[in-house]
Formats: sequence, C-alpha cells, structure tokens
Amino acid sequence: MRGLYVHVPFCRSKCGYCDFASEAGRGELVPAYLDALAAEAGRYRALEGGFDTLYVGGGTPSLLSPAQLERLVSVISGLTGPVADLKEATFEANPESLTSEKAVLLRKAGFGRASLGLQACQDRLLEALGRPHRCADFLRAYGALREAGFDNVSADLMTGLPGQTAEDFDDSLRTLLELRPEHVSFYALEVHEGTAFGAAGVKEAPDEAAEMYERGSAALEAAGLARYEISNFARPGRESLHNLNYWDQGEYLGLGPAAASYLDGERRANAPGLDAYLAAAAAGAPLPPQYSERLEGRAAKAERIMLGLRKSAGIELSDDIFIEFGGEIGRLLEAGLVEKEAGRLRIRPEKLYLANAVFREFV
Ligand code: SF4
Repeated sequence: MRGLYVHVPFCRSKCGYCDFASEAGRGELVPAYLDALAAEAGRYRALEGGFDTLYVGGGTPSLLSPAQLERLVSVISGLTGPVADLKEATFEANPESLTSEKAVLLRKAGFGRASLGLQACQDRLLEALGRPHRCADFLRAYGALREAGFDNVSADLMTGLPGQTAEDFDDSLRTLLELRPEHVSFYALEVHEGTAFGAAGVKEAPDEAAEMYERGSAALEAAGLARYEISNFARPGRESLHNLNYWDQGEYLGLGPAAASYLDGERRANAPGLDAYLAAAAAGAPLPPQYSERLEGRAAKAERIMLGLRKSAGIELSDDIFIEFGGEIGRLLEAGLVEKEAGRLRIRPEKLYLANAVFREFV
C-alpha cells in the first residue's frame, strides 16, 4: 500500500487550539499555492508503483472555490491517475465552507469518502474554540455530502473542552449518531505553546476527556461503530485505509508545507510555512526537508510497535520484537496495560486512554 497526502494550508480563521500548518486570511495565495503544489507533484511523476489511497487534508481544503478545487483535482490526478480509480480517496471539509456545489464537484471528481469536522454540537463551545462554524452549518454540510452521493462520511468530535459537560458530549454524540455516519474520530483537547489557548493559559482536562472518551466509546460500539484505533471508530469495512497504512508502516508521500513522507525506508517532512513553500517553488528548487531520517535496528522495531499498538488489533508478536523488547513487554503485561492473545500483543481496550504510558516504554 502507498498513500498520497495533499496538504491545503488555508483556513478562514485560526482556531484557539490550532498548532497545525495552516494560515488564516491568505486566500489570495491559493492560485500560487496550486502552482507550487503542481511543481512539487511533478517531481514524483517517475515514482514507480503508483498510489492506493489519497487524503486531502489541512487546513481547510473546502475553503477552495469550485474552480480551485478543479485545479487541485487535476494536479492530483496528474500524479495518481483518475481519483475514482484509487482504493480510497478522502476529502477533509469544514462545515462553514462546504457547499452543495463543492460536494457534487468532489463526488464527480472521484472522492468517495469525506471527513467533516464537527467537534461539538453546542454553539457556545464552538465559539470558545474559535471555530467558524455552528452546529446548523454541520447539519447542512452533512446533508450536502449525502445528497451528493457520499456514502462514507466521517466526523470528528472533541473531548475535554473548557466548559464542556458530560451532557454536552452525550448530546453531541447523540446528534451525530442520529445521522448514521460510517466513521467517527475522537480527539482530546491539547493545549500547545504558540497557540491562542496556550497564551491565554487554557488548561487541558485529561480526566474529563478520558471519561468522555470511555462513555463515547461505549455509545459508538453500541451503535455498531467498532474501535479499530485509539481515536477511531468505524462500521465494518469503513475503516480508513489511508490511516491504517500509516499504522502498518506502509509508504506515503506528503505534498505541501509540513507534509511528512515515508518512501524507500526514509522518513522526512517538508519544512513548515506557506511563504517558504511558495519561495522554493518560485526559485524552482525543492523545499529543503525539516528532517530526514532512516530508522534501523531497535529504533525501527520500536516504531513498528508504537504504530501497531495504536490499532485495536495490536501487533504480531514476532521473535525479533520479543528478543529486543521482552523486558518492556513483560513489565506492561504485569501492569495489566497490554495483553497477549493468539500470537498478538495489544493494549487492553479499557487501557487505551493510557496508550502514551505504554509507548513511553519503547522510546
Ligand atoms: S480549522 Fe483546523 S487547521 Fe484550520 S485553524 Fe481550525 S483547527 Fe487549525
């Protein structure tokens, strides 16, 4: 499997918690960005083996106008061939900017899966997060996706928000489940330095987030969406192939600022920053990577374990892993954080919220 990730680093405004590579109020640069993206894509035309999955993320890809979306699709298909021929093609959208016209255009262009950011159904929480949409926008955008023929829709919900009660979270989940999405992702609020929330001293609420996560997991499982990764739940056969490929250490190419790639045993990421990306394209030079490394030996095995343990199915407990990490695995078994079954090792489902503590054993 090989995936293609295409980053669209434009947003209408910057959310208070956001530390992603995205810039607000710079929409006039989209045409130049699409040219730069075409130049970067052109450098990979000779890559043998093609692509199986596509994920267009951001930022806010749905902020692009219909004409800009058509150009984006033509840049992508120049590298992948027809988007409809891929095993999976996902387009990430935000409710305030996804119109019916754009949903129809994307479906016709071959996208079969959409990921829509809901976060919460309470407008006061969305406002506090600095999100430009309201719950009504989400309901309208979700309807537009269904009407356009998207039969594989994912939605994101956040936990541990300032002022978010357990009832708020339950209401958001209930509203979402009534729409019968194929896939749901949970994210706990993280407060990073350099964000508006970080500057304002907003506090994370890990205990509340863990409780919402547990309640939410149970509600999703009861509704037929099984947990297949720490934060991700899907109806049978609707797991994200693109993301599974990351956790299975498959290859992927990332295009755009800050986009990461794993090709031919080398991990690297483009430098962040829209201006640097555009300047490199204008100079006709490849963007220097922010980092580039080749993991080997123990480090490569540790990564295989940490990525694989994100999945509910865990990892195959091969001899090389047991020889290298027998002590660490033994300690985790004794602490009741992981379990062994049929030659596989996995984090116990009720301990998944402690995954970071498990991963620390292998760093
Ligand atoms: S919409 Fe997403 S990428 Fe854009 S500012 Fe908000 S959190 Fe960041």
